[in-house]
Amino acid sequence: MEDCLFCKIIKGEIPSSKVYEDDMCYAFNDIDPKAPTHFLVIPKEHIPSAAAITPENSVYVAHIFEVIAKLAKEKGMDKGFRVVSNCGESAGQSVFHLHFHVMSGRDFTWPAG
Ligand code: 5GP
Ligand code: ZN
Repeated sequence: MEDCLFCKIIKGEIPSSKVYEDDMCYAFNDIDPKAPTHFLVIPKEHIPSAAAITPENSVYVAHIFEVIAKLAKEKGMDKGFRVVSNCGESAGQSVFHLHFHVMSGRDFTWPAG
């Protein structure tokens, strides 16, 4: 997707602070962190949102959650962390390339904040 911000980040056309990368996904620090640790994990395939997950592309989602568990262990996020995917404008999605926010380092409230 030529005009997609996160596709450009994957290609290195826009700089980012890399946390992890493999052949299926890329993880980088959020530019506007909402917790002491806040990074995004994105598939290397352009999937617009959680509403566009299908049997054909869900392998990316499964893989991303394996990566999140691995990174959480490596980064000592053992007190807890939150994984969020905003889907659609009313849910607060602002970049339409599927991404999972991984946040840690503070207490979180539920359902908001
Ligand atoms: P959303 O609002 O779609 O759930 O999440 C998009 C996230 O991308 C936001 O938390 C925002 O701070 C982050 N973001 C937007 N543009 C950039 C950028 O150019 N670089 C990085 N590292 N994060 C970005
Ligand atoms: Zn994209």
